Amino acid sequence: MLEHLSQALFPNHCAGCESPIANNGRFGFCDSCYELLSPNNGPRCGICDAPGLPQTCKRCLDTPPAFERLWAPYLFGGPLQQAIHRIKFAKEEFWLHGLAELLCANEHIQAIKEHCTHIVPVPLGKQRLKTRGFNQSAVLARKIAQIWQKKPHYILERTRETAPQSGLSQEERESNMADAFKADAQNPVENILLIDDVVTTGATLKSAAQSLKKAGIQRVYALTLAHSDPHITK
Ligand SMILES: [Zn+2]
Ligand SMILES: [Zn+2]
Repeated sequence: MLEHLSQALFPNHCAGCESPIANNGRFGFCDSCYELLSPNNGPRCGICDAPGLPQTCKRCLDTPPAFERLWAPYLFGGPLQQAIHRIKFAKEEFWLHGLAELLCANEHIQAIKEHCTHIVPVPLGKQRLKTRGFNQSAVLARKIAQIWQKKPHYILERTRETAPQSGLSQEERESNMADAFKADAQNPVENILLIDDVVTTGATLKSAAQSLKKAGIQRVYALTLAHSDPHITK
């Protein structure tokens, strides 16, 4: 417990390769792992940030998402994937603090701050929350809100448990997430920034954004650490 607590304050090893670091290294990474992070700054979709071609991707054209814009400033893989695996599977929540700082230090992300009045994490199902002990999106949202001197708002709820998305096709992911959220918006004229850790096809964020729009929210933006979608070429 004490070891866990001191880790939370001063992780002494890299979130990627476990080599020793001092003072949290660079956002929780050693210099070499930090250099290996892949920014998602090549050609990509102007709506969902999917890497590929410098135009709206086929998925966004076929089924336009309820969010205005999704930002995912890194590509999933390498040390970032290691860090996210440690968070999810080893329950090492403390790495999320460095990752939130990494996100907020990104110059493109700083501009988002002006777009949103409310920061809303994507909720986990009760069962998953019980198993993991924390919701990584909520921890990320809380830290981002703290850095931006805003407050997180917990206005989204899961309406039911959903099967894990990994291994499902895009269509299966969408039907798995359909109507999986309910929003309780008291003041429906706000601009919301939805926070999740990683985006793959965007099915979860699309469904969450849809429920916020249904509740009367004017504009929904979304932010994740990374995009894990393989390059879209058409
Ligand atoms: Zn490292
Ligand atoms: Zn797209």
